[in-house]
Amino acid sequence: MQHMSSPVRFRSTKKATFSEKELSNLSIEDQEDTQFPYAMRDLPPVSQPGEQNQTEDHHEADGSGTAPNGRLPSLPGTPSLPRPIPVYASGSPTVPQRPIRVRTDAEFQPLQLRRQFASYSSMERPLSPASRPHSPWGRFDPYESAEDQEKEYVGFATLPHQVQRKTVKKGFTFTLMVAGESGLGKSTLINSLFLTDLYKDRKVPNAEERINQTVGILTHTVSIEEKGIKLRLTVIDTPGFGDSINETGSWKPLEDYIDKQFEQYFRDESGLNRRNIQDNRVHCCLYFISPYGHGLRPLDVACMKALHNKVNIVPVVAKADSLTEAEVQRKKMKIREQIEQFGINIYQFPECDSDEDEDLKKQDQLLKDSIPFAVIGSNVQVESDGHKVRGRVYPWGVVEVENPAHSDFLLLRNMLVKTHMQDLKDQTGETHYENYRAQCISNMTRMECHASGAQRGRLLPATGCS
Ligand code: GDP
Repeated sequence: MQHMSSPVRFRSTKKATFSEKELSNLSIEDQEDTQFPYAMRDLPPVSQPGEQNQTEDHHEADGSGTAPNGRLPSLPGTPSLPRPIPVYASGSPTVPQRPIRVRTDAEFQPLQLRRQFASYSSMERPLSPASRPHSPWGRFDPYESAEDQEKEYVGFATLPHQVQRKTVKKGFTFTLMVAGESGLGKSTLINSLFLTDLYKDRKVPNAEERINQTVGILTHTVSIEEKGIKLRLTVIDTPGFGDSINETGSWKPLEDYIDKQFEQYFRDESGLNRRNIQDNRVHCCLYFISPYGHGLRPLDVACMKALHNKVNIVPVVAKADSLTEAEVQRKKMKIREQIEQFGINIYQFPECDSDEDEDLKKQDQLLKDSIPFAVIGSNVQVESDGHKVRGRVYPWGVVEVENPAHSDFLLLRNMLVKTHMQDLKDQTGETHYENYRAQCISNMTRMECHASGAQRGRLLPATGCS
């Protein structure tokens, strides 16, 4: 029959089971029919005049042939499925043609066949919850609650898990640029943030080497795995930034690097093989501000302004342990004022939804008020109050890197990794890369217009096509 070979996934080839009383009401033909697969409840039920009772009979029969919750037992690789309802309509290619004929009591019922059905019935006894096939979603199965076992579902609440499984398999990538003059503790902080040693082979140039040093770009990539989740972290270091006597244009290599990654991505996206595009776009730039000056230096302002429309800038005050609590607050306020005054667009945290949890709203506000983050880095474990912690030991005490009372390190790490990594990536794709792409397309169109204008022997104005 056609409906047996149809690719409807929810269909089951389970045989229906009936009580003795129900069996006695069915003809032999009808009993054979009960072995056919059911149609899904999603298929349009077509009722025939006079068939209503018979369909209802089969609803009951159907209930006894499925899992105790009324749903079919889960197939391996699929979540628990909704209960199928038999649909009978003559003329429809997907349902049995023969209507069920109600037999009178006087009609003969062969004992042999009844026994056979009785044995089906015992074989298909409802499964106990323990023996029910396990859902592949395990503890993530949104249908596993006792309450849900009683309801009918289509099953699409597993969609987020399907996406999650796919992305987890692929792994995650994140590219972070660190900018700021050398000696501000950039490498130390990065190692502390990701509990790794990214700068094993670093050679620090001496003062003479630094006089005419140009800004270089160093890429460090490391694969980190935590609880089965893989992250390919790339850190773009900028040795020499702010080191030479003439600092003019020392942000140019940073700007060029970001543009180059956009260009590569644009080419890959426009190419033939778009399946395995590697995203090397810079998702965030941690900009280190010296704790010693009076707020931002001219180089900081110029650099941030050159980059702010290309990358998400997160400003941090380095070596916060060299400032008192009051000095940290004053410095933060001054830097925030300067950021506003010079029209620098730093990364804006997304607004919290009004129906969001109160705790989350408070956390969000704390994050916004903490900008620029005052951070401390250390790659050594020290003893503090009987505990081993990452910190810095001074004659007057221990500064703990992860202690919120000592620095904003935890706030920064949580923001960067736990709460806003995806938003930083989204902002990169949706805002910064889109700006680049729009600019690129408009330039290309303009060039094409010029070329075709020149071909036609007439010159177009420079803005002819935009
Ligand atoms: P980078 O050149 O910016 O990468 O700076 P480094 O990470 O190499 O650090 C330069 C020096 O500053 C080293 O001696 C570090 O031990 C020290 N340092 C790093 N982080 C901190 C910090 O948070 N506070 C203090 N006081 N010193 C730090």
